[in-house]
Amino acid sequence: MSETAKTPATPPRARAEIDLAALRANVRTLRAQAPGAAFMAVVKADGYGHGALPCARAAVEAGAGWVGTATPEEALALRASGELPADVRIMCWLWTPGGPWRETVEAGIDVSVSGLWALREVAEAARAAGRPALVQLKADTGLGRNGCQPADWGELVAAAVRAESAGLVRVTGLWSHFACADEPGHPSVAVQLALFEEMVASAERAGVRPEVRHIANSPATLTLPESHFDLVRPGIAMYGVSPGPALGSAADLGLRPVMTLAASLALVKHVAGGHGVSYGHRYVTPGETTLGLVPLGYADGVPRHASGTGPVLVGGKWRTVAGRIAMDQFVVDLGGDEPEPGAEAVLFGPGEHGEPTAEDWAQAAGTIGYEIVTRIGARVPRVYVGASV
Ligand SMILES: *Cc1c(COP(=O)(O)O)cnc(C)c1O
Repeated sequence: MSETAKTPATPPRARAEIDLAALRANVRTLRAQAPGAAFMAVVKADGYGHGALPCARAAVEAGAGWVGTATPEEALALRASGELPADVRIMCWLWTPGGPWRETVEAGIDVSVSGLWALREVAEAARAAGRPALVQLKADTGLGRNGCQPADWGELVAAAVRAESAGLVRVTGLWSHFACADEPGHPSVAVQLALFEEMVASAERAGVRPEVRHIANSPATLTLPESHFDLVRPGIAMYGVSPGPALGSAADLGLRPVMTLAASLALVKHVAGGHGVSYGHRYVTPGETTLGLVPLGYADGVPRHASGTGPVLVGGKWRTVAGRIAMDQFVVDLGGDEPEPGAEAVLFGPGEHGEPTAEDWAQAAGTIGYEIVTRIGARVPRVYVGASV
């Protein structure tokens, strides 16, 4: 699938423009922060809503040697595309019993294992595939989500070493994930790092020879050099969105937002004062004014929680969502301005031309920038710019 083929011929109702040149620049910026480490571009959830394959390709062009996904299906789709160089490693980490593990082993994808049940299943998959599974053992160093508890680590490591001797697996990595790296100075960060070093050391004493040891997500890549080990795994920062307000904005971090979400005004009309707007009449026009109809709604991922608060740039001015965001549309009070129907409404973008950012929408909706970009729906066409040819 070529990227230009996705560009619609007519002005669309709405579009998410994806700037692959910005993504490549972000990858280079992040790699410069972790010069000694390999780079895994995290493209789970369709590249945080940006398109997994185009983003993976752009990241590889900018030097990523690894690509990471949550599910095996996401990883298999990337491999099956045939569009990533064969030497680019792909890893997935969300293990569910009964998943497509044989196919994953056959495709040479690294899989994460957090417990004996998963190790047994991957060993069976390796037998069926007739080749060793590439396994990365995951330690729960304090996140309390996926990963093997320290108390069970010795048993898992010993079983993995036996499976390796039997030719069923190759333990390629030892890894973990932070709980609070987006809160610099949080005491759990140092605790997790120390525990990770201990768990790596005990696995190596037991005979594991990992190619890569890794724990750093975006915030750790940006702020915690001692967490970089052999590989860093940034997701959100690659898309030019700050991991959280405590780290500053994307601009503060030297990152360029990759997605711009814009729509064409579907309608502009004059209304009298005292006119209720949208479901529940949560907004009533304070006086005679003009209203603009933006043809995007919560089915497109515009969060309903931003009703009455979400910012939109129309005709060079910030406007605010008036009343409730509906499934397919919402209204802005244009204060008497009369842009033509079809005029552009920019919900968020890089912020370089006065438009709001995804971080502004996160604040307006009481959530995080990750959720804003990731939830932009399938009905919004992605239009790719800045592809290198
Ligand atoms: C999502 C994810 C990442 C990337 O996290 P960011 O905060 O987006 O950088 C890294 N590792 C794992 C295990 C993840 O699930």
